[in-house]
Amino acid sequence: MNQSRRQFIGQGATMVGASAMSGMIGRMAPSGTQDQPLVNWAGNYRYSTQRITSPTSLPQLQEFVRKHERFKVLGTRHCFNGIADSADHLLSIRELKQVVELDRASRKVTIESGMSYGQLSPYLDQQGFALHNLASLPHIAVAGACATATHGSGPKNGNLSTAVSALEVVSANGDVLTFARHRDLDVFQGAVVHLGAIGVVTKVTLDLQPAFTMRQDVYLDLPMTQVREHFDEIVSVGYSVSLFTDWQKGRINEIWVKRRIEKDATLTASKDFYGARPATTNVHPIMELSAENCTEQMGVPGPWYERLPHFRMGFTPSSGKELQSEYFVPRKNAVDAIIAVERLRDHVSPHLMITELRTIAADELWMSPCYKRPTLAIHFTWKQDWESVRKVLPMIERELTPFEVRPHWGKLFTIPSAQLQQRYEKCAEFKRFVAQCDPHGKFRNEFLSANLYG
Ligand SMILES: Cc1cc2nc3c(=O)[nH]c(=O)nc-3n(C[C@H](O)[C@H](O)[C@H](O)COP(=O)(O)OP(=O)(O)OC[C@H]3O[C@@H](n4cnc5c(N)ncnc54)[C@H](O)[C@@H]3O)c2cc1C
Repeated sequence: MNQSRRQFIGQGATMVGASAMSGMIGRMAPSGTQDQPLVNWAGNYRYSTQRITSPTSLPQLQEFVRKHERFKVLGTRHCFNGIADSADHLLSIRELKQVVELDRASRKVTIESGMSYGQLSPYLDQQGFALHNLASLPHIAVAGACATATHGSGPKNGNLSTAVSALEVVSANGDVLTFARHRDLDVFQGAVVHLGAIGVVTKVTLDLQPAFTMRQDVYLDLPMTQVREHFDEIVSVGYSVSLFTDWQKGRINEIWVKRRIEKDATLTASKDFYGARPATTNVHPIMELSAENCTEQMGVPGPWYERLPHFRMGFTPSSGKELQSEYFVPRKNAVDAIIAVERLRDHVSPHLMITELRTIAADELWMSPCYKRPTLAIHFTWKQDWESVRKVLPMIERELTPFEVRPHWGKLFTIPSAQLQQRYEKCAEFKRFVAQCDPHGKFRNEFLSANLYG
């Protein structure tokens, strides 16, 4: 344990209580002005304060931390719930977005925490490096994504947080601490997926690998019976595979297969894919929408960062007029869980834009939904009608209860706090760690109170 962290550990904690959903609203403008409230990316959540400060240096940030009794850090505002909300003050880290160091020998990059994957990835590629995976869109901040265990797909790929090898954190008293995987493993695994509870992450160090080329092929109309019989083969057919369904007509509407092209190898897409047919043009996950903002498909080779996400950096992925929920179940229960959700299709479909099924490797990060279990993630992009969606979520959660379902921390769910805590065997340990990091609840907000302490 390093010296600064040792000084930091070992004090008491406080807590408050309220609803994590209190800011849920109809659609509003994306950034706050005198007249327009500050809202999240999707516009469904109104933050409880307009007071927002954006430091441009570490000393400024430390001064802010020392002066304020309570606040929350805001990343790129891509969460759908109140996890980033504060009733008091928001600290934006968007101005801190430089590459600090590229260590070629140990294949690591250290960046300031406001940097997004879209800003980092082209730089890494130019330098001959790649990240192991990306989420569906590159617009999110690295620190905000890792705080909630954001993931892509691939049975051998851990979520994005598993690439973190060190964090620099400004603690509640303004001191700078570091947590490194090679040195502080005891608490490092609690610190990475931190849900915004331990301090202000100012720098993130990520593992890299050599840059690689990929191709993306899409297949249409895969019979659900094939998924039941060949789930493991289907999700392992590429480096990253996504299955999109509207739960109608007993089929998966689209399968997006992202494959790495090893040097000098040629890959051809098979014509028949478990009864599905190859798409003949680029498509959007929602077939009716334009594929203009989607990453290149049809087997065209391209750099990893332009194939791993579904949406291209230069574009807004969609109108943003949506809600999202995502549930994680053990991969060994994948088929049963899919059948369980399919049973609810008449309840789900009227409010659904699309479901995406992805796999994720197990990890060791305490508050990761993939902690110690290879995982299937069942994602729902909903129409922006919270009153209807909030009625459907408990039905899905009930169906998935036998599989010890865990929700995405950054999306919408209604699983009661007691159940949630029970499903994280390291929850009590995480809370002890948080209490040491933040003895007076400076980073505690309604979301954390309701879900971790309710
Ligand atoms: C269109 C869209 C597509 C998405 N696709 C995916 C996907 O493919 N896979 C997936 O898993 N998720 C996905 N998400 C969810 C998203 O990745 C997560 O919600 C992620 O946490 C958003 O990061 P953010 O910086 O915008 O978070 P914010 O909402 O700004 O913050 C999230 C949490 O992190 C904390 N935080 C942020 N930065 C810091 C910091 N520097 N220090 C301390 N705490 C910090 C905040 O306080 C808060 O608790 C998607 C969301 C949207 C809107």
